[in-house]
Amino acid sequence: MPATKELHRPYTAAADRYEHYGYRRVGDSGLRLPPLSLGLWWNFGDNRPFDNQREILRHAFDHGINHFDLANNYGPPAGSAEENFGRMMRKDFKPYRNELLISSKAGYDMWPGPYGTFGSRKYLIASCEASLEKMGLDYVDIFYSHRFDPKTPLEETIGALDTLVRQGKATYVGISSYSAERTAQAKQIANDLGTPLVIHQPSYNILNPWVEHGLLQTLEKERMGAIAFTPLAQGLLTDKYLSTTDVERQGGRRSLESQLTEENLTKVRRLNEVAQKRGQSLAQMALAWLLRDGAATSVLIGASSTKQLDENLGALKNLEFSETELSQIADIAQGDAGIDWWRASAIS
Ligand code: NAP
Repeated sequence: MPATKELHRPYTAAADRYEHYGYRRVGDSGLRLPPLSLGLWWNFGDNRPFDNQREILRHAFDHGINHFDLANNYGPPAGSAEENFGRMMRKDFKPYRNELLISSKAGYDMWPGPYGTFGSRKYLIASCEASLEKMGLDYVDIFYSHRFDPKTPLEETIGALDTLVRQGKATYVGISSYSAERTAQAKQIANDLGTPLVIHQPSYNILNPWVEHGLLQTLEKERMGAIAFTPLAQGLLTDKYLSTTDVERQGGRRSLESQLTEENLTKVRRLNEVAQKRGQSLAQMALAWLLRDGAATSVLIGASSTKQLDENLGALKNLEFSETELSQIADIAQGDAGIDWWRASAIS
């Protein structure tokens, strides 16, 4: 339960908030991210109690999570997460603006017509301005092209990101769900323009390691960072479904229902055994695995409670994996788990 009385007191961030862990450099840029960053895709819309959202954000920042990731369409309804975040900025985080890394994105459907989706200059610039207004900010720290647009020249999409940087509306820029090949092209265009395209946001988790087949190598070559999204396969890589497949009872996501196959659940149970031997919960091992050497710079978690947040922060106590553990995990995870929901964007 949110400590409502506490929430209505003016917020002062914990004095020891930067003493929990180190911040990780994004490629060869000056940007440094916490190992765990917090995404506001799912639990910060108008369908969730505002006090709960506020409690989660305060708790995150108190524990050194200074990166909050948004997009124009986060909610539901689309746009409401940025509005709610704007309220929290005004109420709690305004004094801490210079410490915070706030990102937003445009690329998926936001408003009707051809200029409310994908990657045109008109859409990206208008959407960034709308996001700033909703959040009550002068600038975002990272603005992303949310997906590759096969019908707009890449020069135009990256050129729009460059314009936002030059206008002072974005400090750094990024791309999300682009293939390795498109990433290299985008980086070349950005380099020619002198734009700080420093980060890629791909889906990545134990059951969906597609980035390991080219994208991570490209990012390393291009000196860019990777921030992994959907690290827990929307709850599949947690203890939520170890003993039940009742998504509704677990308060889980409908989109997961068709992935709760016996084959996937067997994998999840076997992964849980590996996690237990490491002294971690399954969620903790799944997050730690993404932060092992050579993998992601930061991991974007979603959380519906401070309890989940605490469990996830506990992952940082053990990021080391033996060769045996890594090969056990690879062996269990092999085969298509059917959770690569964003793949279409990356291969187009
Ligand atoms: P996820 O880690 O795969 O799923 C998060 C969900 O897992 C939570 O909402 C919660 O489900 C459950 N969970 C988290 N910690 C748990 C724990 N310790 N024990 C049990 N359950 C736990 O991540 P995601 O929400 O899909 O994505 C995270 C962020 O990535 C988003 O907020 C967004 O910022 C970003 N993202 C970006 C894109 C893109 O296209 N760039 C796409 C998707 C996501 P309940 O809410 O049901 O409790």
